[in-house]
Amino acid sequence: MADMMIVTIDGPAGSGKSSTARNLAKRLAFRFLDTGAMYRAIAWACLEQDVDPNDQAAVVATARRTRIEFDGDRVLVNGDEVSAAIRQESVTQASSVVAMHPDVRDELTRQQRVVAEGMNIVTEGRDQGSVVFPDAECKFFLTADPMERARRRHRELHDKNDDASLDEILEQIKERDRRDENRVVSPLVIPSDAVRIDTSHLQPTEVLDQLEQTVRARMSPQDA
Ligand code: C5P
Repeated sequence: MADMMIVTIDGPAGSGKSSTARNLAKRLAFRFLDTGAMYRAIAWACLEQDVDPNDQAAVVATARRTRIEFDGDRVLVNGDEVSAAIRQESVTQASSVVAMHPDVRDELTRQQRVVAEGMNIVTEGRDQGSVVFPDAECKFFLTADPMERARRRHRELHDKNDDASLDEILEQIKERDRRDENRVVSPLVIPSDAVRIDTSHLQPTEVLDQLEQTVRARMSPQDA
């Protein structure tokens, strides 16, 4: 039996990492882990239960009693489906606030390592290659210009009949980048051994092809 392989994909919001990671996992027949959904699930639980996202002790207590499950593309919190609810803007902003607390990160890091145990996995987030899986066989860091990331998000929201303006979205993206890059614990950084890809001017399939080729080149011959 060949060794298990961990592929990490980190990067800022709108860099295309979520869909890239999901599709890469499908192509490779690896498990997929969306760690942003875990921070969102905790943020959602806090907002539901009137817990202040800034209150570290209260957020950690919430995190410890919150059961997060994935069922294909569905996300469940304590058995309730929250897949759409965790994508609301209020939850999006709160997720980067709860993610600033070291004890919350420790708890989710522990859970992420449990999920990956004994698995071939593609995991995506902000700290997967830098902190959670520093020994991962294959690390990627996706980026894109803030304006291009805002345009993508704008198109996505427009398709959902949300008419937030491009300026507004750009501001929200920059605000979240600031929090993610400047937090004291596990800030968004590019691991030194990561392959960095700027997706601003690439089609999604071009990014995907590039990642797949890189991963297959690092697999043992019988798995590639
Ligand atoms: O990737 P996504 O936009 O769903 O992540 C939501 C928030 O969760 C991010 O803005 C970030 O603050 C936090 N996050 C994190 N570490 C991860 C994944 C997400 O801090 N590994």
